[in-house]
Amino acid sequence: MADDVFAEALKRLDAAAEHSQAHPETVARLRRPKHMVEVSIPVRMDDGSLELLTGYRCLYDDTRGPGKGGIRFHPNVSASEIKALAFWMTFKCAVVGLPYGGGKGGVIVDPKKLSGLELERLSRGYIRAVGRSIGPDTDVPAPDVYTNARIMAWMMDEYSLMVGQRTPAVITGKPISLGGSLGRDDATARGAYYITKELETIREWKPESTTVAVQGFGNAGQHYARLCAGDDYKVVAISDSRGAVYNSDGLDIRTQLQVKQSTGRLDASGGKEITNEELLELDVDILAPAALENVITSENAARISAGVVMELANGPTTSEADRVLSENDILVVPDILANAGGVTVSYFEWVQNRTGDYWKLEAVHERLGEIMRREFHAANRFRRKHQIPMRTAVYALALDRLGEAHEAMGTSSTFSKR
Ligand code: NAD
Repeated sequence: MADDVFAEALKRLDAAAEHSQAHPETVARLRRPKHMVEVSIPVRMDDGSLELLTGYRCLYDDTRGPGKGGIRFHPNVSASEIKALAFWMTFKCAVVGLPYGGGKGGVIVDPKKLSGLELERLSRGYIRAVGRSIGPDTDVPAPDVYTNARIMAWMMDEYSLMVGQRTPAVITGKPISLGGSLGRDDATARGAYYITKELETIREWKPESTTVAVQGFGNAGQHYARLCAGDDYKVVAISDSRGAVYNSDGLDIRTQLQVKQSTGRLDASGGKEITNEELLELDVDILAPAALENVITSENAARISAGVVMELANGPTTSEADRVLSENDILVVPDILANAGGVTVSYFEWVQNRTGDYWKLEAVHERLGEIMRREFHAANRFRRKHQIPMRTAVYALALDRLGEAHEAMGTSSTFSKR
């Protein structure tokens, strides 16, 4: 991500403000994070040397509840990126109505170069460094790029040692045996799938003749392809970092999943090999970018032929490309709504940890479906009412909710009344 990524994020705020009832005070408050720490993490390496790594934790806004957002370990982490990601989390939590604000954290490191023990020392060291800024009622982290359930387990354990109490609710995305929630593994894709089912009714799609292309066959992409194929949608293309496979009759997703899991590669014999760029431009009903940011840009936007872009990835579409897609009448279900199933089930995990009452998988699916359907329709109504792109509608809706929370404690409009 570029260093001006936070400035880019604020452009979305300005666009949303034009259509939101939120008081200007809310907009002004959301232009800067509430709390941002930069920490130095001393990590003892296996050869006895000491590495001093830089980490961040940002609590962007906690008006609607404690912060919520992942921790990434990546060489390109920067303060600007962490602030932007925390800003997006604030809006994502508001748009699905979770009682959370937004947060994010990260460490500038290439975790692939660390041994298992070095990774554990880093994870625990990060928590010792930011421990006073997080907590079940202040800011609740989760996994993000290159962090996983085991890392969450180390972090939860370290925090619990710090406060002298077993505190599973301090972090989500934990292993099931340590308080993780059932249904977290496919929650992101499932949220998007529930929206797809609503679109099926609105657009009168017949699954057998509705085509889907998925860029990125990782956690989010694999589950989305599996759920769509399970409902007889024709998943005609999938891809990974090496390239894409296309079959106009629909790919056998079950075989693709087996081959990917056993060999780490796609099954090229299931269709014809095409490039990732060609996949994005296929004439399909649903294009689901589920890999990286900035893949639909001003360069290729005019050639995108999909009817709907379901943004499973964070930030796959640039703002210039957004304008082109909108002019071409392509419906973009934006990332902060399309992939919000993940944070929603993280919220369920936090609720289960706090109550000690653990839910069955069916209960997770039922409540997730209820939230995704409700918020998709709220955003769709807002978009139609204001005749604006779905992304702007989703941001404006979230901004309205943040504004209502600020308003409840009074703004200058309240206090200047006689
Ligand atoms: P992942 O690492 O499991 O999968 C990423 C996939 O993208 C892999 O198949 C990889 O081969 C592929 N890929 C990498 N470079 C590519 C390229 N140049 N072209 C095409 N494919 C490429 O990651 P994930 O967890 O599935 O996350 C994917 C996206 O979804 C990210 O933007 C992430 O932020 C977003 N997301 C994920 C979750 C979640 O719960 N997993 C939640 C919210 C958002």
